[in-house]
Formats: sequence, structure tokens, C-alpha cells
Amino acid sequence: MMRTHTCGELGRDDLCSQVTLSGWVRFSRDHGGVLFIDLADSYGSTQLVHDPEALDGVDQGSILEVLESVGRESVIAVGGTVRERVPGTEDSRNPTGQVEVLINSVNVLSKSRPIPFEIAEQKNSMLPGEDLRLRYRYLDLRREGMVRNLKLRHRVISAGRTFLDGQGFIEVETPMLTRSTPEGARDFIVPSRLSPGDFYALPQSPQLYKQMLMIGGVDRYYQLARCFRDEDPRADRQPEFTQLDLEMAFVDHEDVFVVMEGLISAMWKAARGEELRTPFPRIPFAESLSRYGTDAPDMRFALPLVDVTNVVREVPYEIFRRILSKGGVVIGVNVKSDLLDDQVGRNEVDRLIEWAKAQGMGGITWMRMTSEGLNSNIVKYFTTEVLRELTETMAAEEGDLLLFLAGPSASTLAGGAALRLKLSQDLGLVEDDDHRFVWIVDTPVFEKDPVSGALDACHHPFVLPMDPEDLDDDPEQALGFSYDLVLDGVELGSGSLRNHDPEVQRKVFHLLGLSDERIDEQFGFFMEALSFGAPPHGGMAIGIDRLCALLTGADSIREVIAFPKNKRMFSPVDSCPAPVNEERLNELQIISLAGDDFEDIDLDDL
Ligand code: ASP
Repeated sequence: MMRTHTCGELGRDDLCSQVTLSGWVRFSRDHGGVLFIDLADSYGSTQLVHDPEALDGVDQGSILEVLESVGRESVIAVGGTVRERVPGTEDSRNPTGQVEVLINSVNVLSKSRPIPFEIAEQKNSMLPGEDLRLRYRYLDLRREGMVRNLKLRHRVISAGRTFLDGQGFIEVETPMLTRSTPEGARDFIVPSRLSPGDFYALPQSPQLYKQMLMIGGVDRYYQLARCFRDEDPRADRQPEFTQLDLEMAFVDHEDVFVVMEGLISAMWKAARGEELRTPFPRIPFAESLSRYGTDAPDMRFALPLVDVTNVVREVPYEIFRRILSKGGVVIGVNVKSDLLDDQVGRNEVDRLIEWAKAQGMGGITWMRMTSEGLNSNIVKYFTTEVLRELTETMAAEEGDLLLFLAGPSASTLAGGAALRLKLSQDLGLVEDDDHRFVWIVDTPVFEKDPVSGALDACHHPFVLPMDPEDLDDDPEQALGFSYDLVLDGVELGSGSLRNHDPEVQRKVFHLLGLSDERIDEQFGFFMEALSFGAPPHGGMAIGIDRLCALLTGADSIREVIAFPKNKRMFSPVDSCPAPVNEERLNELQIISLAGDDFEDIDLDDL
């Protein structure tokens, strides 16, 4: 038997038992001829002791020799007796910390080379650089923190599956080698050897397949789906990620909300043991933008943005004048007096202004509400009437600090969103362990490209417009049955009801600038499927990596993925992407123009 117990199991109940443990030699130390070893596995760690005085009749010498010959992180199996630790040496933080195992036999199962970094749990600041951790990820995964993260991820996924099974969903796998699915990113493409010059795409999501499952009569589908998007490196992005993807037939959007809230609650409970309060609040997209400057607002603190453009329109303050004459806006934030401790004085405001400038905002204009009314170095430009209106619009009370941003609408709202976050951090407004979900609803079907003026899909092209007539009358104003779920200012997932009427779907494609020819070429198969009786349907997908990162409090999704790519989209553990040999390329009829070869190729010969 390799082991009678795991390394996280033994306690006082096991005193005097003969046990066999197997695991990694995490730590060893010699205390005056008595050797202590922490033997670890993914369940915990147990103290082993080699004590020459405690055992008679065992070949102590050879055991010691073996123990001294193995380096840290070698794998051993030991036999021994469970005994109490010497009083005063118990470790109350370790569940096995009341006992130790007196070794009477040892077997080396495999030896480890010297390790490149410390594996025993330590403060985050002591962690080695991320690239080193990822290069030796299999060692990094032995660390307690990573074990915790992977186990939490498993619990979340497993609770999700159990919940959906209970709701009548079935898990169906959809292809990895696909025709391109449009989620707005670039596809990873896979060359076909059997059809040279043709390519599969890795799925950006199972969107069209899950819709075809609905057409196929599958009533409730889900899948733990791997998705691939070939995007430029961005903080906390991975080229491949996992979604809990689902779709339901014969539903309206309320049905989707109920299932999603149940699902999230089940996963939350599995991870944290807490019940979530549902239903989650809902905010229309337009209100989210105007009140929080973003469609992914952090609801753990208030600090709403207030548009005061019309209040200050006539004020002869040069900065506002210039901006307003070009169609810009002025938005304010009221930092209520109870949020400000006495420290927030002129210096702090100046620092905030510098911060805003460094972020590319024009700067911040400020006022304080005193017992005599609004006060700052610019109130001289404001009439009493405007100051009164400003006080009212901003709901200013004595002691409040009013901050204003001015500029073009989109960038000023984005600046407002950043300012809210900055203030929440500086003023410590987010309480530990406070988490807020919010639905963003009533999203426009289209967004206008600011440069070309062309319409793009706000979510994706399959969203059902609330009123399909808007597509003819005023497509830019058309709202869709689509919804984003946001947690603590991070978008966790999105979904929608879909177009099940092929004519409406075609109209949306037309508005997106696709000719009938392009529609047939790109989506002919799907349009055909829609024409064979598609049920009304809708669904959603939740980003599992992001959800687990939020649940563990990790600052990056890489902490909850076993083998992630690094920030440059490179996988340090197996060094990929990597070149393929020429033979394989020849089979695929692909010519590499990269590197030195480029010089040798005569393009006229191609
Ligand atoms: N396929 C969508 C996405 O990946 C989710 C959905 O609409 O169900 O964002």
C-alpha cells in the first residue's frame, strides 16, 4: 500500500497507529541529532521525525542515511507511529499540527533536483517572478495557494454542473475545429492537411453551435466550453479561456435571469459557503454609462457621476467654455463629507489633479461646500444662481468636495469611471469581502464606429432587438434583449435572446454592412438552419477564469488556470508557440516566410 493516510489527515484520534504516508519532502531540519521533515501532498503536511532514541530494534543508521540522501521535493514513502508532539511544539495553524510520525521505515519513490524556488507557503511578496513560476508551473502548483485555487475552481465548476443538471440542462460538446464564429475578435486558424489551403478556426465561443442545438430540439444545453480569441496581449487576457456556456429554448429574458442567478448562487455557495441575495439589481446600459461612466460599474461604493453640462453652459470660465463650445460635457462627482477624513486637504486634491492629467484627462476642477456655500478659486466665474443650481444638482451639503471633469463625452465619461475607482481606492471605500452583482440591461443592438460611422454589433450579431421595427426606423436607437452580468466592476459574462426569425437576422446582418452574398458565404449554413423552424431561444456565457479569480481574490486570472500563458501570450512551461518542422509545413502546403528563410525565397517562384 502506497499510503494509509494523506498528509493532511492525521490527528489525536490516530495516536499510536501504525501509518504509511507518501509525499514530497517539503522541509527538513536537524535539531541536535533529531531530524524533522515536513512531508506534504495536496491535502496538507505532516511532521515526520527521525529520533534515534525513540526506536529500538530498527536499523536507525540506514534510515538516516536514506533520509539525508534525498533533497527537498523528493518523493518518499515512510512507515511510522503517530505520536503526540512535545508540549509547546504543537502548530495550531496546521490541522495535523498536534501530532507527528515517528519514522521506522523509508522508501524513496523519486528524487528531485535542487528546486529553483521555495515551495513552502510564504507571503505573496516573497513569491518568485511570475515567469519563473510559469516556467516550472508543476512546482508552482505544489504551493498551498495554487492547490487552494485549483480546488476552488473545481468546486465552482462542479456546483455549476450539479445546479444545471437539476434544472434539466444537458451537457453537449461542440466542435473545436470550426468555421469562424464572430465574437468580434480574431480567430486562431488551423490549417487542414487534407484540404490544403483551407483552414478551420478555433471557436471564439460555441455561439452558433448552441443556437443550432436549439434548432435541433435540445431544450436546455450547457457546456464548459474552451474558447479561443487571437487578441493582442492585454492585462489579464488569455488567448484561451473557459466559459460556462448555456442556451435555452422557449424562454424570455426573465427566464434566463432566474436560471443565471440560481447558477451563480450555487457556485458562490460552493466557493464561499455564503448565500447570495437575488435577484441582482438591474441597470439600463444608458444609465450605467451616464451614472458610472462605464457598462461594467463597481457597485460597492456610490460616487455617482452627475452631468452638469447644462448648469454650467453660460459660465464664463475659460476651460468649460472652450470644451462646451466644441460639444463637450462637464460631469461632476460629489465626494460626501462622511467619506472624506480630515486628511483630504488641498494637497490631496492637487495630487488628484496631477493623477488626472497623467491619465490623459484635462484635469479636475474642484469646489468645496462650506457653510457659506460653494467655495474654490473658480467660483468667482459663477453667478449666485448657477452656484445654487449646481448645489442642488450635485446635492451638495456642508463639507462635501465636488470634483468636475470636462471634455468630449466618451473620454470624459471614461475619465469619470476611472476617477470613481481612484477615489474608492484612495478613500478605502470598498470593504473587505463586500461583493456586488449587477445586470446591465437594455443594451443597444448596434454601436457606431466613431471613425468610419459604420454600425458594429454591440454584443454580437445574433441579439434579438426588442422591437424589430426599430431596425427599419432607427437602428442606432434599437435596444436588444441582451444583458451583461457585472461583479465588482468586472464583466463576468453576457448573453441575450436571439433572432430566431431568419428575416430579422438577415436585416441585422444587412445593417452591419453584409451583402446577401457575404451573408451566404459566411453564415449561409446558419441562415439555412434558422429557416427550418427555430424555437425562440436565449442564453448566456460566464467567464469561469474571471469568476474564480474574483472568488479567490487573486489579482490575475493566471492564478486560477493550471497552465496559463504569460502576459506576452507565451507558455513558459513548454515554450510555445514554437516553430514546426518544415516537413509538417510542406504537408500543409504552408511556406514559412519568417526569419532567415525569408531571404532565401524567390517570391516569383511562388
Ligand atoms: N457567445 C457569447 C459570448 O461569448 C455569449 C452569449 O451570448 O451567450 O460572449
